[in-house]
Amino acid sequence: MKHVTIIVAMEQEAAPLIDDLRLTAVPMHDPCLPCRAYRGLYENLELTLVINGKDPIHDVQNIGTQPATLTALEAIRFSKPDLIINAGTCGAFASKGSDIGTVYIGERIRFFDRRVFMKNYTAYGEGHYGAPEAIALARALNLPTAVVCTGSSMDMTATDEAILQKEPVVTKEMEAASIAWVASFYKIPVVAMKSVTNLVDTPSDTVEAFHANLNFASQQLKAKMLDLLVLLNDRVVLLT
Ligand code: SAH
Repeated sequence: MKHVTIIVAMEQEAAPLIDDLRLTAVPMHDPCLPCRAYRGLYENLELTLVINGKDPIHDVQNIGTQPATLTALEAIRFSKPDLIINAGTCGAFASKGSDIGTVYIGERIRFFDRRVFMKNYTAYGEGHYGAPEAIALARALNLPTAVVCTGSSMDMTATDEAILQKEPVVTKEMEAASIAWVASFYKIPVVAMKSVTNLVDTPSDTVEAFHANLNFASQQLKAKMLDLLVLLNDRVVLLT
């Protein structure tokens, strides 16, 4: 049976999926680490969903590149997946045609704020993980694709914006490239699915928009995730 592991940063993003798929909490290997796992079956697929869990010092949910790296490593060791799906929310550009609640699949995954202008380190810093499986899945699901751009900040400097503007359609988020980096060592394909909570080039405040639209965007994400699981179940061949 093929194993699909879904990595989600925040509880609110994961909740609709955990409910709908009737996943149940299971202990992971290392009780000292904050990430939390849920398990279940979808037809012929074994599913593990892992969230980052909470930071005990600041009493907030772990988000961003460091938790994503750690969670990805733990999730891979714990569930030995054939495919990883990084599902989450993101910012996007209204000027590139994006709207709140639109769900994108990553055609490429990159960092946008790891700028290292030394020989060979520029490309290393940017990452640029290709996602051929994801493009095929997006076509089959009739979903738009975007370059998933990962950084460590919720806001955007002028330099960040210039880099993001050079890409075609983008989703701005904080986890996917870290997960793709870890998965690359294990040669596990990564599909990023991102639902827009905020438009970063409009006057609306990013954090306010994020909170206002989080539930709606998470419901949209869940709907498209279920479509993706139906497709993967039908086409197990994509997972070989
Ligand atoms: N301020 C929020 C935390 C939001 S963190 C709070 O108080 O709870 C944002 C999360 O959603 C990250 O996991 C990131 O991947 C994603 N995200 C959504 N919009 C984003 C944006 N504009 N920039 C970067 N990440 C964004």
